[in-house]
Amino acid sequence: MPAEKRFATKYAVNDRGCWVWNAQSSKFRSCSFWFRKERMTAYRASYIMHKGEIPSGYVVRHKCDDPACVNPEHLELGTQKDNCADKVLRNRCNAKAGSAHSNTSLTEKDVLDMRASADSMKTLAAHYGVHYMTVYDIMKRRTWKHI
Ligand SMILES: [Zn+2]
Repeated sequence: MPAEKRFATKYAVNDRGCWVWNAQSSKFRSCSFWFRKERMTAYRASYIMHKGEIPSGYVVRHKCDDPACVNPEHLELGTQKDNCADKVLRNRCNAKAGSAHSNTSLTEKDVLDMRASADSMKTLAAHYGVHYMTVYDIMKRRTWKHI
């Protein structure tokens, strides 16, 4: 099957116009896609397919802030300086399906601080402005397993 066709079976469009990768998958979200004999993030493959080559030194970033989104209109090139933010996004994308869509804006540091904290999960949830279950999942290492 051509890569473009294979790609098109992997996402679903949501009400914000985002092409949500692996939307049907109830398992862990995987952002990767085999393209040109290379394993790359799905949004990177999407950019190349729809918009063209990515110049060296550039990374593909999300304008819509949804790391699972592969809509080329929501993608833009950034410089390598943004690489760090990009990496954070990719890590979020590997989180359990569902959590990738919560509106949290936690960073890796927040998560580490949370786990190290002696405060109750309720207190932490209020402090970081996230749902109690978000904190619970972090503490139980159901999400943010990579750190
Ligand atoms: Zn989007």
